[in-house]
Amino acid sequence: MKAFTRAAEMQTASLGLRSGGKSIGFVPTMGALHEGHLSLVRRARQENEVTVTSVFVNPAQFGPTEDYRKYPREPARDAQLLEREGVDFLFAPPVEEMYPPNFQTYATVEKVSAPLEGQFRPGHFRGVATVVLKLFNIIQPHRAYFGRKDAQQCVVIRRMVRELNLPVEIVVCPIVREPDGLALSSRNYYLNGEERRAARVLYRSLCRARELVEKGERRTEAIVREIRQLIEREPHARLDYVAVVHADTLEPVGRVAGATLIPLAVWIGRARLIDNLLIEESGSGLGFHL
Ligand code: AMP
Repeated sequence: MKAFTRAAEMQTASLGLRSGGKSIGFVPTMGALHEGHLSLVRRARQENEVTVTSVFVNPAQFGPTEDYRKYPREPARDAQLLEREGVDFLFAPPVEEMYPPNFQTYATVEKVSAPLEGQFRPGHFRGVATVVLKLFNIIQPHRAYFGRKDAQQCVVIRRMVRELNLPVEIVVCPIVREPDGLALSSRNYYLNGEERRAARVLYRSLCRARELVEKGERRTEAIVREIRQLIEREPHARLDYVAVVHADTLEPVGRVAGATLIPLAVWIGRARLIDNLLIEESGSGLGFHL
């Protein structure tokens, strides 16, 4: 594996690969890697001749009171894991390389950035879209891999790619979970033993929502009420939001119908965790993705 810290060097290598006809698969991450990240890497390896992973904790997507400084950083371990997975290039720039002094150009995807995460983390998706656009320009991937755990992020990136005519295919991959259902996340490192047990309430409440819909419930109000109750009953948990929205527009819907997303964000101790249930409707009935 070859590691780059300079954008110009990474870009030169990528342009060389592209003009040599190699397909490039790209996995952007903020590091502190776990099996969720590695599942994206494996998929990228299967589908491309060359795999590039970036590790960059992006200050632009953290709010002033958020965990940017405390976010887990394990560069040596990350590099070792990526090497073992057969990644060809690691791009791990220092902050000044991505945001030199007096940086002032940002990408904003307007409507789909506003609700849900956007409401609780103003400016978050502007930071995400900007860094992803920069990384796409540096790495020049044919395909880029994202996890459905961050469902709104996938919607924002897909829209940016479509509306700015970026020549990259966005591949959304399933959520990787612990055996008890908790979605893997670098922020799970913040949980102590008791909080770790409490964190199961996210998955548990989404399973309950699935069960309700399976039994015929379609009303948003009833589904949201049930999830709220489960989370309120968990002493370590504090709900930021739960919603039932259209999976592509993220607009609220009154009933489950067609492609529907049920995302939630819950504080467990000092960790803010997110998860979601995706429901798809086809000729043969409803499909659930948890
Ligand atoms: P992050 O390092 O948190 O920015 O995540 C980098 C990428 O890994 C994003 O596309 C995430 O959606 C994805 N990811 C994080 N956790 C998981 C998970 N448990 N399962 C699948 N993908 C994940």
